[in-house]
Amino acid sequence: MKKILVANRGEIAIRVMRTAKRMGIKTVAVYSTADRNALHVKYADEAVLIGEAPSNQSYLLGDKIIEVAKRLNVDAIHPGYGFLSENANFAELVEANNITFIGPRSAAIKIMGSKLAAKEAVKAYNIPMVPGTDNAITDVTKAKDRAQDIGFPILIKASAGGGGKGMRVVEKVNELESQMQRAISEATSAFGDGSVFIEKYISSPRHIEIQVMADAHGNVIHLFERECSIQRRHQKIIEEAPSTVLTPQLRQEMGEAAINVAKSCDYLGAGTVEFLLDDDHKFYFLEMNTRLQVEHPVTELITGMDLVELQIRVARGETLPITQNDLKIKGHALELRVYAEDPTNNFLPSVGTLDMYKLPIGKGIRVDNGFEEGMGIPIYYDPMLSKLITYGKTRDEAIELMLKAINDYKIEGIQTTLAFGRFVFEHEGFRSGHFDTHFVKNHYSPEALKEKQKEEVKIAALIAVKQYIEDQKLLKLPNQ
Ligand code: ADP
Repeated sequence: MKKILVANRGEIAIRVMRTAKRMGIKTVAVYSTADRNALHVKYADEAVLIGEAPSNQSYLLGDKIIEVAKRLNVDAIHPGYGFLSENANFAELVEANNITFIGPRSAAIKIMGSKLAAKEAVKAYNIPMVPGTDNAITDVTKAKDRAQDIGFPILIKASAGGGGKGMRVVEKVNELESQMQRAISEATSAFGDGSVFIEKYISSPRHIEIQVMADAHGNVIHLFERECSIQRRHQKIIEEAPSTVLTPQLRQEMGEAAINVAKSCDYLGAGTVEFLLDDDHKFYFLEMNTRLQVEHPVTELITGMDLVELQIRVARGETLPITQNDLKIKGHALELRVYAEDPTNNFLPSVGTLDMYKLPIGKGIRVDNGFEEGMGIPIYYDPMLSKLITYGKTRDEAIELMLKAINDYKIEGIQTTLAFGRFVFEHEGFRSGHFDTHFVKNHYSPEALKEKQKEEVKIAALIAVKQYIEDQKLLKLPNQ
């Protein structure tokens, strides 16, 4: 494998290229007209303009990307996350053109892309599952009966859903029919597939996922868990590894379950098996994501592994260079997704130019970044600027480092989620380790953030006054 095309943009494109370069592999970027000056274009050895700004005219054009790959004699395509990464047809087309797809085979992508097909596939492996329906629900009466059996509240979910979309909580039986109709029409328009099903609504769960890695020779390992319970609108915003609640035994059980999920679909490469953990520390399989996750760096920091390197090596047909017993958790890592969004205004995207953009640096601080000073934030794509990641010997150390890094991260021109991150990392509920997926809903409000900021300004002013007085005293000393 001499040349890799990265079919993505932003921080993840750069992240993948960084490892490829280290491994002596040439890199090709593709970009849209909105990304002419983007960092991933500058970072790559070669870069090709593939279309207009909207992603369906550029980053989602599988045929065009394959055409570019062939023209430039590319050996493999890395899809990153989002865009074409979980598109089974694209993976198949890449392979049909004699190019290696750095990811699982298309059959596995297809199975795990449907939450219902995934549940069906793992059935034979005794994986604990959230009580619910096995098939898409179409009959309201049957759905009501099943919901009564499970007990309200229940959740209606889109089988093809992703990114927290297409989910509806139903509290009472008389709301079921209308919510079901709404969920079906939402799923049809968002995913082109109206299949919805019912799951028990776990009232205060934690979202814990296991990183797996499989080679083409039957070896599957897990690289422990990531805690992703700090979410808003069912979307992750802060992640950490390890989780504060897993015992070694539970970790082993969840790890084994995740390996079995990977085996159920003959998995290849990096994947993530997501679970919910309830109050009694029982875990339930949610779904499998068949790609590198946004939050993969926390796993890299606590295991010392480069997940992109492992992806490339198994895609080249190599045997995994490590076994389960070689892996140990060392230290603690945290990640904050830095979005161009205004946390004081309902997290609305904040458009504008990065008038100032200075990254924090230092031991234990990693920033997977896709932007630089002077750049605008394109409105066409996910508004994530970077991922701020810290690593310490202990969780407390990683949190302190995170607070320092947030302070040192200087952004002007747009609003970001940095202040929101500070709010969470300083919050007793987070620091204690006792929280669930409702943390943001229960503890965060723009008012609470503003109040906190006001107090911080006051404290800063007091410190400045104190310093001033002390400086004055020093100045007067010679006369005394
Ligand atoms: P998506 O594919 O849209 O990301 P997931 O099934 O991965 O959907 O769920 C996303 C989030 O939604 C979970 O992390 C959790 O917060 C919430 N969730 C999903 N299923 C349940 C459930 N049965 N009970 C409670 N919360 C749930």
